Amino acid sequence: MAKIQMKTPLVEMDGDEMTRILWKWIKEILLEPYVDLNTEYYDLGLEYREKTKDQVTWDSAEATKKYGVAVKCATITPNAARMPEYNLTQMWKSPNGTIRAALDGTVFRTPIIVKGIEPYIPTWTKPITIARHAYGDVYKNTEMRVPQGSKAELVVTDKDGNESRELIHDFAKSDGVIQGLHNLDSSIAGFARACLNYGLDLKQDVWFATKDTISKKYDHRFKDIFQEIYDNEYKERYEAAGIEYFYTLIDDAVARVIRSNGGYIWACKNYDGDVMSDMVSTAYGSLAMMTSVLVSPDGIYEYEAAHGTVQRHYYKYLKGEETSTNSVATIFAWSGALRKRGELDKTPELCEFADKLEKATIQTIEEGVMTGDLYLISKLENKVKVDSKTFLEEINKRLAELVK
Ligand code: NAP
Ligand code: MG
Repeated sequence: MAKIQMKTPLVEMDGDEMTRILWKWIKEILLEPYVDLNTEYYDLGLEYREKTKDQVTWDSAEATKKYGVAVKCATITPNAARMPEYNLTQMWKSPNGTIRAALDGTVFRTPIIVKGIEPYIPTWTKPITIARHAYGDVYKNTEMRVPQGSKAELVVTDKDGNESRELIHDFAKSDGVIQGLHNLDSSIAGFARACLNYGLDLKQDVWFATKDTISKKYDHRFKDIFQEIYDNEYKERYEAAGIEYFYTLIDDAVARVIRSNGGYIWACKNYDGDVMSDMVSTAYGSLAMMTSVLVSPDGIYEYEAAHGTVQRHYYKYLKGEETSTNSVATIFAWSGALRKRGELDKTPELCEFADKLEKATIQTIEEGVMTGDLYLISKLENKVKVDSKTFLEEINKRLAELVK
């Protein structure tokens, strides 16, 4: 059979530890036999980041802007323990942070649902995709402890030097604490567009919620920007696609999410997204079954798994011990990127291959063949636990049937 051709290169960002091993095997076993892979390769493994003084990360972000689609392997974000382990000259920043900043992107996380792994919320039969606004608020705050007897004020000095002041609190009776937060209209607008574009992409409703009844200027600004952008730029396309933009109070949103069946995108302010994404991913069963895509406001896509490099499994692998690491989210990062490449290049055979790769992966698990993490939580009766590589070979048996 002739291999599927790719018109435009896909930006490939390799990574670290166990996921780097899976990366190589996924390519060898599931991709290269079927697709003439046309990738522009960037090695974001920590050794090469050190060697290039992290330039490779910046280069890979630039390449993503150029070609529009990237697929990324999990990478180490160095901490103190990694400095001697990799002989680092600097504690390089998280590649994800660098790439997100370069693309001004929003991260969308979606669970992969399979029979036998039931969400803790039984009504969640469809995935809930969470988008987190990754700028400002409490993550870029200024905090102070305030001694009794002090008065705290907000002071804004405009470009002509005029000051406006608001009292925060008169700490006459007790010591206390204060916090200063900010956000930018431009960042909120970029977030709104990324979410509304992704809704059109997935043909799913977009929900957004804040605490605007209490925060009448700060949170209300978020609500207004979303509404203006929706009304002016998206309303017609949403109506034509039969989907909706839905705004409600955060309390109401949380209650509705729990009662829902899933199948929508939930746009969250920074803190809500941080907290809710952990709750939602846990409720769906496994971090190893969560995909993640970074979308820029102008429609650039970077696909990856939501989990890390699975360090503990890697050390076992290095000792020659058997590992049973789940490669599903990394496979779906590849299928997502190949499908998007196919859509942009108008090569439907690439999109079909991506669909079949996902189908074969889900079928494998639903037929009872799975890695250890899923084996522990699957309700299937005929389940068997396989090692990392056997799992990929089992998927390939089914994939080979599907592409025949
Ligand atoms: P992790 O790699 O996600 O792993 C945490 C634990 O979750 C693992 O030890 C394993 O549990 C389980 N797990 C995660 N993914 C799995 C998979 N695919 N299959 C089976 N089990 C899986 O998080 P971490 O240990 O906190 O971080 C390790 C490294 O990853 C760090 O250097 C961190 O900087 C990096 N990281 C990178 C990204 C990214 O690139 N996007 C994201 C997060 C973390 P058991 O050990 O109990 O089996
Ligand atoms: Mg969190």
